[in-house]
Amino acid sequence: RPRVLSGIQPTAGSFHLGNYLGAVRQWVALQETHDAFYMVVDLHAITVPQDPAELRANTRLAAAQLLAAGLDPERCTLFVQSHVPEHAQLGWVMNCLTGFGEASRMTQFKDKSAKQGADRTTVGLFTYPILQVADILLYQADAVPVGEDQRQHIELTRDLAERFNGRFDQGAARPTFTIPDAYIVRETAKIYDLQDPAVKMSKSASSPKGLVNLLDEPKTSAKKFKSAVTDTDTVIRYDTEAKPGVSNLLTIYATLTGTAVPELERRYEGKGYGALKTDLAEVFTEWVTPFRQRTQEYLDDPESLDSVLAKGAEKARAVAAETLATVYDRVGFVPAK
Ligand code: ATP
Ligand code: MG
Repeated sequence: RPRVLSGIQPTAGSFHLGNYLGAVRQWVALQETHDAFYMVVDLHAITVPQDPAELRANTRLAAAQLLAAGLDPERCTLFVQSHVPEHAQLGWVMNCLTGFGEASRMTQFKDKSAKQGADRTTVGLFTYPILQVADILLYQADAVPVGEDQRQHIELTRDLAERFNGRFDQGAARPTFTIPDAYIVRETAKIYDLQDPAVKMSKSASSPKGLVNLLDEPKTSAKKFKSAVTDTDTVIRYDTEAKPGVSNLLTIYATLTGTAVPELERRYEGKGYGALKTDLAEVFTEWVTPFRQRTQEYLDDPESLDSVLAKGAEKARAVAAETLATVYDRVGFVPAK
């Protein structure tokens, strides 16, 4: 079986619809066909200031949401990044292989640091893409299911893996690292903010009005759908250039219901935006209500949740430790006796 790896941050408590449609939904599908490793990336969450109690709660909450979305610990390995120390260890080695200019070109860093201001931006935020490189390479992942915003980081991962292999493999029977591919589903690669269909829906959105959080009261999200920004035309048609707002709503509707977009266009012919928005609000509510219930059930049993995560960490460590041992040997570290 080919292997996949991906992660999600526990920064905000709730996942948003972009996280689900762009990433987590694919994770659920891939556990049927792939040897799948999924993690809650708490090391990444401290690249911006965190409240310790909130981080702890949000890490469990993220795991509960992943299970509620359909991850099955019998079919995949679900764990917390900080439970596997090899991430930080390999992260350091990869830091030492990355050019400063190369790291400076990461657009996610530029966006995030611009939002925060230079004084509050940490070195950790600057190097987080390199930790992400280590996250992926430790598991010898063939594919990394992510949203479009992560494409550049997967490119960096490929570059650094090739650089390491080229420099250190020296005729070894097997390359140190597998070169991974990004796995990005085009239709849902980028879900847009409901108030500003030019920017991606994001946990760190400047305004909550365009951000659909899965754990909010469904009524709150229904209102956001109903007041989504569209355009001054009236025709319901998928056209990302001329009608980004309407197209975003159609994408969400189509994916949540498993209906093709052209079929939706036909169904809404001659109807106004209001009808589409009202129906979408209902579709979302129907989908999210059981999701919220399941999340709560996992949270209500923290011991089982923690034991799922402990078992996951054990399975993850077995793989990660093997890769790290090869890396430490090939870079020239003396083995510990
Ligand atoms: P932040 O803005 O703080 O980085 P985020 O909203 O990007 O948060 P992450 O935890 O960084 O959330 O991302 C988890 C996964 O969700 C990643 O694979 C990312 O590509 C995907 N993702 C995030 N936002 C979107 C979106 N708007 N559309 C599609 N996929 C998304
Ligand atoms: Mg992100």
